[in-house]
Amino acid sequence: MTTVSSSDATVGAVLAEPTGVVVDGRRRTTSSRRPLVAPVDGKPWTEIAVGGRQDAEDAAGAAARALPAWSAAPPAERAASLRAVADELDAAAAGAEWPALITRETGKRLAEARGELGLSAVYFRVMADLLEQQQERVLHAVTGTAHHVEARPLGVAAVLTPWNFPVSIPARKIAPALAAGCPVLFKPSEVAPLSSMVLAALLDRHLPAGTVNTVLGEPADVVDPWLAHPEVQVVSFTGSTRVGGLVAAAAAPRFLRTVLELGGCAPFLVLPDADVEQAVQTLLVAKYRNNGQSCIAANQVFVAREVAGGFVDAFVAATERLVVGDPLDAASDIGPLAPAGDPARLAELVDDAVAAGARVAGTRAPVPEPGHWFAPTVLVDVPAAAAVFRDEVFGPVAAVSTYTDLDDAIAQHRATGYGLAGYVCGTDVDVARAVSGRLRAGIVGINTGTPNYPGAPFGGLGLSGSGYEGGPQGLEAFQAWRTTAVAGDAVS
Ligand code: NAD
Repeated sequence: MTTVSSSDATVGAVLAEPTGVVVDGRRRTTSSRRPLVAPVDGKPWTEIAVGGRQDAEDAAGAAARALPAWSAAPPAERAASLRAVADELDAAAAGAEWPALITRETGKRLAEARGELGLSAVYFRVMADLLEQQQERVLHAVTGTAHHVEARPLGVAAVLTPWNFPVSIPARKIAPALAAGCPVLFKPSEVAPLSSMVLAALLDRHLPAGTVNTVLGEPADVVDPWLAHPEVQVVSFTGSTRVGGLVAAAAAPRFLRTVLELGGCAPFLVLPDADVEQAVQTLLVAKYRNNGQSCIAANQVFVAREVAGGFVDAFVAATERLVVGDPLDAASDIGPLAPAGDPARLAELVDDAVAAGARVAGTRAPVPEPGHWFAPTVLVDVPAAAAVFRDEVFGPVAAVSTYTDLDDAIAQHRATGYGLAGYVCGTDVDVARAVSGRLRAGIVGINTGTPNYPGAPFGGLGLSGSGYEGGPQGLEAFQAWRTTAVAGDAVS
């Protein structure tokens, strides 16, 4: 007999009557519907009810009402709720329905969808642990007075997320917000909302009604009323640099705390002493993870002339061996782009680079038709001025250049203005770390394509945003420090 896990049942309930609106613990259906397109064939496969301004205002009211009780709940109680959510996410990662839904909506491989749910569980666990480790400090520096320093919940948190990781990016924001004691207003992406709505439903099962309220809808209808609400004190946004600028401007009049996790253009440096085979494996992950649609994807590959010939041949050969196909099929290495991904935009980037002097070294193999497919493509001898080298590619196109002057390669990256991730491959780790220290980046992988870890801070510089997620810094993003000076309490 097969048992149906609770997350499978939740997926069933979400799919039975898809809605993007859950306010005060109740799902709402609306007359406004949005079709959802399957990446594998480009066809609409279902639709979801979306909310409007009134739903957003109701959500803000519900979150504000939830604030006093949730912010006053003992840390142990909040931590227990987070761990219960983590347990369900772990079970879901091993289950059938939720991973398949993520794959169906985004086109990412099933194994990566499972990995995303497992990573989401870690965010909830890490934040529960960090909350319990936080302690009030008492300073006795001033005679006769004790200064009590404590972290307090900032207020209601608005959480706005993209489509490329529709569960783990919301988890990376919602877990610390809830740990901190902040009720959440959650606007998922319109591109892959169902996977996010399963998370919303799961959270509702473990939290008091109104602690997490979700509204999918037009940003102006949803986000504007949230940012105007007096109890909303922090907005955590992940998405494009363009929209991040709009969110920062919208948050400015009320001086809201902002966490902005934006686009990237990560340099990938292969040093002269690199182990070529290891560097190729590292780049396969750093470039083609999530079908190339990751903010930390390697975008500018700089290979030292000493190893360039062997590295490029091996990477091209490895790329040509990648199996492009149905992301539900375990044999596939690369699936289709998500519905927001635009194969024509990628084709233009490749053509533009070729016109500027680059050469297509990896094949642009035929891909399934129709759908949002783009074959993994390697461009070599890419000139610094080509758009594919300066802008976020966000697809399975690898742009490679040979360098003789490391300073020039580092300068080329700084000139982009982005500062999210970077990668350095080299056998002398001290040298690699010295190079890493010169990069403008919030996170650097040395001989690894997976530098991210929920217990450590992650955040961008420059055009990649500001603020941190993960680690104690990710929790503190939703907290305000309060110092209370108590006269005559010097020895307590
Ligand atoms: P996007 O900026 O188009 O959308 C992100 C979210 O913002 C969506 O929920 C969207 O509905 C909402 N939005 C759109 N217009 C808005 C407005 N005017 N006001 C408020 N919200 C608005 O991004 P996307 O296409 O969903 O995601 C891809 C981008 O996200 C890439 O640039 C990628 O690098 C970036 N990203 C960054 C990180 C990171 O951690 N730095 C992680 C993942 C993705």
